[in-house]
Amino acid sequence: MREKKTEQYDVVIIGGGPSGLTAAIYCGRARLNTLLIEKSLIGGLATYTNEIENFPGFPEGTSGLGLMELFHKQAKKFGVKIKLTDVKSVELEEETKLVETFRTTYEAKTVIIASGGRPRITRAKNEDKYLFDKGISFCATCDAAANTGKTVMVIGSGDAAIEEGTFLSKFAKEVIVSVIHDEPKMDCNEIARDAALANPKMTFMWNTLVDSFEGEGHLDTVNLKNLKTGEITPVKVDNCFEFIGYEPNTEIFVDKVNMSKRKYVITNEHMETGIPGVFACGDVREKELKQVATAVGDGAIAGVAAEKYIAETEMFANQIMQKEKIGLIYVYNAIDVPSRELLPMMQEIENAFDKQVKLNVIDQYKGKSLCDRLGCDIEPMTIFYTKAGEVVETSTRCDKKSVMEQLNKLVASPIEVAL
Ligand SMILES: Cc1cc2nc3c(=O)[nH]c(=O)nc-3n(C[C@H](O)[C@H](O)[C@H](O)COP(=O)(O)OP(=O)(O)OC[C@H]3O[C@@H](n4cnc5c(N)ncnc54)[C@H](O)[C@@H]3O)c2cc1C
Repeated sequence: MREKKTEQYDVVIIGGGPSGLTAAIYCGRARLNTLLIEKSLIGGLATYTNEIENFPGFPEGTSGLGLMELFHKQAKKFGVKIKLTDVKSVELEEETKLVETFRTTYEAKTVIIASGGRPRITRAKNEDKYLFDKGISFCATCDAAANTGKTVMVIGSGDAAIEEGTFLSKFAKEVIVSVIHDEPKMDCNEIARDAALANPKMTFMWNTLVDSFEGEGHLDTVNLKNLKTGEITPVKVDNCFEFIGYEPNTEIFVDKVNMSKRKYVITNEHMETGIPGVFACGDVREKELKQVATAVGDGAIAGVAAEKYIAETEMFANQIMQKEKIGLIYVYNAIDVPSRELLPMMQEIENAFDKQVKLNVIDQYKGKSLCDRLGCDIEPMTIFYTKAGEVVETSTRCDKKSVMEQLNKLVASPIEVAL
């Protein structure tokens, strides 16, 4: 078998939808050596929609494909390398992360997970012929206006189905809802159900599921099967919306990052997954609104967070945990006067030890993640470490005598403790 190649990057982004491309633009522009890996179509789910009317900056609307081509062009302009291949597995725990494709192992300082999701489908006959632009849609926010005055079908009765169906009724002439349950049972909350039942534009076909989709080129009929009688009823529609759930593309991350019950990646507002150097953005995250605009926001945050992580890792290794002198780290709070006033004294101590000691100061507010790496969450605090980079003492005693005494235990030539 052919040996696998190995390549090194600062950042590897998994997924080339709007969130991954935005993260790539930010990382590329920050001059990080950036690789984006996409397994099918650059632009992700956004390329599946003809018209995007709600992405700011395009008052006349734009096509999903056209918008994504602009994102792609911009990422390339900033030197981002793009590979069209499937990521098969990842190893994320170590400082160097591994991203495996069929032919290559990519080593990365940081990984951004932007693998998005996919709508669940009914798997009824002929469904694949009409997906997305040929009559079966998955996004009312996106396609409602295009259905003004038309007859649409909604499949499902959960919160998304009924709330989106109600939203569609503001545009469509008629919204026919296929519900799998007995009348009047639905899976959504009661408020949404009562509002839908009272909505004159919404009608319900109880105990049904889709048997097949039909139409010449474009969907025009949905054949619904009654689960109790087996009877098939053809229903003429202009378009059909399926809301039977959404699945994240997270199979390769199971047991590797924190996930919600629904298998979406959990992050904080900095897009951090909890594993140092691993970020997630866009639809793959557990979050409220899955749209291009929110994917772009997430991607920007993830890109900046990756850049900051790399800069801090380098600073931590080369500057903070330098190995030429005994290390003294002073963690303070710039807006706390007593802790700030100790700064000149710390400088004096460094000078007094005459090139034996290296002082680094960290503002706890600005350098929060450096403090996290050092395991200190209170200030003021002093941290002492050997030339081998071994932390030997962390102390909240920051007076001159205590600091000098501790340093005297570590340096080759102790000095007199001057008060
Ligand atoms: C039909 C439709 C219409 C929509 N219309 C609108 C609209 O009008 N306005 C709007 O704001 N939003 C719309 N949306 C929602 C919008 O498309 C998504 O919110 C957005 O695309 C999410 O971006 P993302 O980058 O997070 O994920 P995605 O767009 O899902 O991109 C993720 C990418 O990761 C790739 N990937 C996954 N796993 C791997 C792997 N293992 N290796 C390599 N690559 C991988 C996938 O192939 C995919 O290209 C629509 C969605 C759909 C389905």
